[in-house]
Amino acid sequence: MSASLDEIIRKAAVLNAIRHDGKADPGAVLGNLLGENPALKPKAKELMPSVRLVVKEVNSTSVVQLRTEASEKWPAELVREKPEQERKLPPLPNASNYQTIVTRIAPNPDFVLHIGNARAAILSHDYARMYGGRFIVRFEDTDPRLKKAQLQYYELIREDLKWLGCDWDEECIQSDRLLNYYKVGETLLAKGAAYICQCKPEKWRTLVIERKACPDRDLTIAEQTQRWERMLNGEYAEGDAVFRVKTDLTHPNPAVRDWPGFRILDVNKTPHPRVGSRFRVWPLYNMASGVDDHELGITHVIRGKEHLTNMARQLFMYKHLGWTYPDAVHYGRLKVEGMNMSKSRMMKALEAGEYKGVDDPRLGTLAALRRRGFMAESIRQLMWEVGPKPIDATISWDNINAINRKIIDPTSHRYYFVPEPITTNVEGVQGDMEVHAPLHPQHPEMGTRTLRLQSRDGMTTLLLAGRDRATLAALKPVRLMGLFNIRPLGFEKGELKAEHLAESTAIGDSVPILQWVPSGDGVPVSVVLPDAPELGGFAEQDLKREPVGSVVQFVRFGFCRLDDVGADTVRAYFAHE
Ligand SMILES: [Zn+2]
Repeated sequence: MSASLDEIIRKAAVLNAIRHDGKADPGAVLGNLLGENPALKPKAKELMPSVRLVVKEVNSTSVVQLRTEASEKWPAELVREKPEQERKLPPLPNASNYQTIVTRIAPNPDFVLHIGNARAAILSHDYARMYGGRFIVRFEDTDPRLKKAQLQYYELIREDLKWLGCDWDEECIQSDRLLNYYKVGETLLAKGAAYICQCKPEKWRTLVIERKACPDRDLTIAEQTQRWERMLNGEYAEGDAVFRVKTDLTHPNPAVRDWPGFRILDVNKTPHPRVGSRFRVWPLYNMASGVDDHELGITHVIRGKEHLTNMARQLFMYKHLGWTYPDAVHYGRLKVEGMNMSKSRMMKALEAGEYKGVDDPRLGTLAALRRRGFMAESIRQLMWEVGPKPIDATISWDNINAINRKIIDPTSHRYYFVPEPITTNVEGVQGDMEVHAPLHPQHPEMGTRTLRLQSRDGMTTLLLAGRDRATLAALKPVRLMGLFNIRPLGFEKGELKAEHLAESTAIGDSVPILQWVPSGDGVPVSVVLPDAPELGGFAEQDLKREPVGSVVQFVRFGFCRLDDVGADTVRAYFAHE
């Protein structure tokens, strides 16, 4: 017995609504029901009106009621739906209006990507993949003055995107497309939808606040075109003329009124890193970005809500040109506790030499996180959790660290590391010892590491962590991991004297258990901490078997990424505890 068509639609719509806070999306519903009933595929077009009707009805029903319905009719589906829920992005608006979903990320190559940019990159990329669409990377490099592009950043941004797993289908660079923008500018002039303004900035500001047109606004189209020619052929100097797009002069936001589309720049003073001084008329942000979103066929723009004013500006241009604005998703601000995410501030500090590079561990750049041992998968999980929600969100380092820990813990090999070591001489040890410790306590199949301890005349020397000094100074028994128990006897010339305790000596269950490294058989390790000083110490010899780039856990210290493994020393970056 097969379900009726009405039932099939109802089921898909109800389940979709439950997964998305009561808001089913017709495109997603149709997609789901065709996935489960491939025989209906030829009828997809005819089904859409019925799907829309049912979705409308379902969306006006409470989620509690929908759950009751689903648990009675399709209980198995509800069980299946649970884990998926956590790993789903809400549907894109009006996705069913488009044959192919096209999204983009538009970085300015004046810096590398930071954790805030990762949201736009991951959401745009993952939405394109979710709908079987296309993802475009567009380098926005048309401000050779204030947001000047630098050649190395084009490639570093590509590296960041590759690391994030945001592979792109098409790449475009705005400085290659200046003639496209000129063409649109000329169309706007020819339609009387733009003008060349020669007002001094102060005069312009006064007029615009008073909602008044400037005298240039109503000159004939022929005169505007002449002025445009003069902009292009160099008859105007920088600042003499600005191309403005006509808007509603009474628009409530003065920043939207007759916004600038092109300006003249003295490119001999500030040549562009890719096209040098070939162009003197440069599009401003909204011109270049607005034209590209249309010409590249972007269907969904996914970006921060600080762009809402830009959208208001661009809508005037789209109307003049008879274009349809893409569907826009504006998400809220994302703050990371205790992290400066202002690109301009980061760049200034970098230029002033405060940071060692774009991957300095104090920065919130992806390059820094990568170097410290954060996984791209952690960043992705975080961005899926935050999603495209319009409300502002704050994430803490604890939150980021917890996600990353879950991912790296099962695969990270364990080693002993003693920072700022205390040389400890233990008396009463008979013979040499070889200790085999597991690389991972929960995964014996990963194998073991070996620590070799030599003794002479009943005395052996090992290194303990400087941060355990207070514990040792209490002169109470402690257990050395996987080795034996000792009783500290006191410090002498900076070294600790201790006595070996026989296994039979009762010391209680709650004694401190400390990591250790054999003296003379350790490797010097320098750990770069997130607040930048380096911490020196020794780790066990076998650490040198690990390849560069691997993430290990230094027991009782934290997770670190091995940045350099030399013959005699190891350098590591601290990720988190
Ligand atoms: Zn003017």
